[in-house]
Amino acid sequence: MKYSRLSRAVKPKINPETPDKRVPDKRVLGKPVQEAPDALVRLDAGGAVRGSAKPLFGLDANGLAAVMTEAGEPAWRGRQLAEAIYRQRVAEISQITTLPKPLRAQLESKGWQVGRPEIAQVFRSVDGTERYLVRGLGEGQETVETVWMPEGDDGEAGDGSEMDVEASTAPSTGKDAGWKRATICVSSQVGCAVNCQFCLTAKLGLQRNLTAGEIAGQLVAVFERHAVEVGSARVNLVFMGMGEPFLNYEPFMAAVRLLVEEVGLSPQRMTVSTSGIVPGIEQFALEPPEVRPKLAISLNAPNDKIRNEVMPVNRKWAIEAVMDAVRKVKLRPRERVTFEYVLLGGVTDRVEHAREVARLVRRTGLPAKVNLIAWNPGPGIEYVMPQADAVEAFRTVLGAEGIAAYVRRPRGRDIYAACGQLKGTVEERGPGNRD
Ligand code: SF4
Repeated sequence: MKYSRLSRAVKPKINPETPDKRVPDKRVLGKPVQEAPDALVRLDAGGAVRGSAKPLFGLDANGLAAVMTEAGEPAWRGRQLAEAIYRQRVAEISQITTLPKPLRAQLESKGWQVGRPEIAQVFRSVDGTERYLVRGLGEGQETVETVWMPEGDDGEAGDGSEMDVEASTAPSTGKDAGWKRATICVSSQVGCAVNCQFCLTAKLGLQRNLTAGEIAGQLVAVFERHAVEVGSARVNLVFMGMGEPFLNYEPFMAAVRLLVEEVGLSPQRMTVSTSGIVPGIEQFALEPPEVRPKLAISLNAPNDKIRNEVMPVNRKWAIEAVMDAVRKVKLRPRERVTFEYVLLGGVTDRVEHAREVARLVRRTGLPAKVNLIAWNPGPGIEYVMPQADAVEAFRTVLGAEGIAAYVRRPRGRDIYAACGQLKGTVEERGPGNRD
């Protein structure tokens, strides 16, 4: 389904164009402020697979064992299935050679399929970044964006090694030899309800939640494309693509458990970014450390006044409430909380803002770092990019205030770099159009 049709159907409900009449002065810094939508309180909506599709991908060990017992087989054959689809990355039941041929045929005749999400389109940047439109078996035919960043994305290594000197000498394991470490950015929803004013995905509105298999499957599909050897390759995962993971909480955490327990990734190589969904952060704080990714807060403003404007979600959960929730997360040794900060030219990029951010971060009392991201322009969004010297001055002030700060290198600017831009642009023009 094309973006234009969906956006007409969904956008007015969750991305209201009209100002909220309850607040007399809705203008801050000259721009109308929009309210956080009611959808923000839902944590567990979850996605559903479409029609009669019966994907194995997305089922955990118990689910796969149940498939086998239902087929009249011993439950231990579920482990063979898990090994085949998550570790060996087999994409067709007929190719799972550890299962007897008649059993493979029986599963297929019952409608089962591996059902791993597929990379529908690839866009490759001159800097090696690849952006994908990935399609799963969820309701509708929507795609989501997934990004492969060889050599990481500076400041989001996922393992606390921002400078990563060691990684620069590690052997390459990929088919496309040359990358020594990489970061993969995955989506958790089709579109997003949070309505951050600088984000193109917000303009899509929330179309639907992804299933656990669709979230984990983006990563496995990219692993397969780049022949990633789990365990030896230095690959980090960030849940920072389309959507707000904490508004699709259960499928998101189910995907994390699959990736840890079945695919074999360390949760310390994963980072989840939230816009500040307080009930989600509090739930996340209860997750056991063996499966809990690291936490990033998408801060993007130095105070509530500006954050109310650029991130309407702040009107529901203000900065202090978010910080209180973050303090409930029990950090592992050497773990730090990341604060993501998108610099908007003239709006959030001044040195006095940097001082406010430093005070905010210090007040949390937590080991923390700040990732600075120069805003990527997108069509229909009025902000401007910050000047390079403003970005550097911001980082210098944070450093002088004793806050670890890293500037993330812009990646893939020639391939619809803003989150949501690829999907919005390509699908609006129709499949096969790259320009
Ligand atoms: S920045 Fe993230 S949370 Fe905010 S609208 Fe975009 S996708 Fe949603």
